[in-house]
Amino acid sequence: GKRDTPDKTDGVKEKESIPLDDVEDGDEQTKRHLNVVFIGHVDAGKSTIGGQILYLSGQVDERTIQKYEKEAKDKSRESWYMAYIMDTNEEERVKGKTVEVGRAHFETETTRFTILDAPGHKSYVPNMISGASQADIGVLVISARKGEFETGYERGGQTREHVQLAKTLGVSKLLVVVNKMDEPTVKWSKERFDEIESKMSLFLKSSGYNVKKDVQFLPISGLMGTNMKSRMGKDICPWWNGTCLFEALDAIEIPPRDPQGPFRMPIIDKFKDMGTVVMGKIESGTIRDGDTMVVMPNKVQVKVLAIFCDENRVRRAGPGENLRVRLSGIEEEDIIGGFVLSSVGEFLGLAFCHSLPFQSCLYQVILKTFYAFAARPVAAVSEFLAQLSILELLDNAIFCAGYKAVLHIHSVVEECEIVELTQQIDPKTRKRLKKKPLFVKKGAVVECRVQVNNMICIEKYSDFPQLGRFTLRTEGKTVAVGKVTGLTSSESA
Ligand code: GDP
Repeated sequence: GKRDTPDKTDGVKEKESIPLDDVEDGDEQTKRHLNVVFIGHVDAGKSTIGGQILYLSGQVDERTIQKYEKEAKDKSRESWYMAYIMDTNEEERVKGKTVEVGRAHFETETTRFTILDAPGHKSYVPNMISGASQADIGVLVISARKGEFETGYERGGQTREHVQLAKTLGVSKLLVVVNKMDEPTVKWSKERFDEIESKMSLFLKSSGYNVKKDVQFLPISGLMGTNMKSRMGKDICPWWNGTCLFEALDAIEIPPRDPQGPFRMPIIDKFKDMGTVVMGKIESGTIRDGDTMVVMPNKVQVKVLAIFCDENRVRRAGPGENLRVRLSGIEEEDIIGGFVLSSVGEFLGLAFCHSLPFQSCLYQVILKTFYAFAARPVAAVSEFLAQLSILELLDNAIFCAGYKAVLHIHSVVEECEIVELTQQIDPKTRKRLKKKPLFVKKGAVVECRVQVNNMICIEKYSDFPQLGRFTLRTEGKTVAVGKVTGLTSSESA
């Protein structure tokens, strides 16, 4: 249908100008949606597998395949599959921002998947942090090729760092694909697969994964597409009786998310398209056409004009969905990545509190509790308390008050400073040590006060894990991972 240019100051009017029968009937998605992040050492085969998945799920049209097949003949084969992700989605590029943020989509029987930070994409964050912070599941790619598994797994290899980050960032389910099984040095060897499985299992356990419940191993060849969309034959691998990759992805169960919770959508990007459009993933709550929301931390009240899930307009969307939301009441220039689209909040409780003739402490407590669980807007702070695990320090430096790093929390990236170490915790016994530490070293667990220059929207880890876990990085290295344990100098809308 034809849509008028929106009048930014009058959301209601714009909404009326869009006939609702323009909204597709399938506005309530029947398939569940999951975000997946690919992790693993460089050259393990992440891009190849990503491209192969898109090819096998019919995301790449015949014409494009032919085009790249021809090119692949001229050039080396390496960039062949990668090219699929990057260059085929001409249409998507025109329609939306999918390609620009490095996302790709595919579907299996029961699930729609979004590949976050699609590997091979030019803006791919090699440390995969931004992807992992939004991911529901991780696909850990391991190369079975002689020497490559070993390199990836050794100190300095990315396998370890990625697994530890994924765990801390809340990726609770892992599919470990043992890739390159077709390699001449591997030849679908059961011994090699078993060796990798047992070594990785030990390591994953030590990183906090429940290997029996939350981890699954699969042999595949990303390059050949073997054991990916359909199970492989005994002629290829006589000893494998398990599932293929798509089946395994289909069967992954993740804990149900609460559509009734307060609305929280960290904004990862924004642009102008008949109004102001913001992109992000719903971490909590439900959004509907016509809702009044607030953009935090700048506290601008906005109206929801339209909601797009993948390329479809929908009337409402719940937790886990990646959306583009058209808003009125705010200019695109006034939003930056890391801001949060939030429910406005219930002020009734507090108003009621002030009208009471007697205000006992108990009342305050009850109302505070009520307020905490009602649809309050996301907190905006410039300082918070956190528990940190120190992973690595540059040049064996010490970690003390005054330490500066870059804070990555949901879609926020901000300079921060540790202003005080308040308590050290024994990493093994989890006991709190009595003496207040002046400094700590690598491997320590410590509680501290963290300051940022600009207001940021975060939550306590115990309230909203997705908005309360973070990493600290300096010079491109992850120094520490942490959880928000308290909010100070908090402001609400
Ligand atoms: P990434 O860095 O993890 O994204 O790895 P790439 O997808 O770029 O792959 C690195 C190299 O491994 C490329 O030369 C691929 O062709 C090769 N490769 C990837 N998967 C397979 C596989 O299943 N079998 C074989 N033999 N080679 C593979």
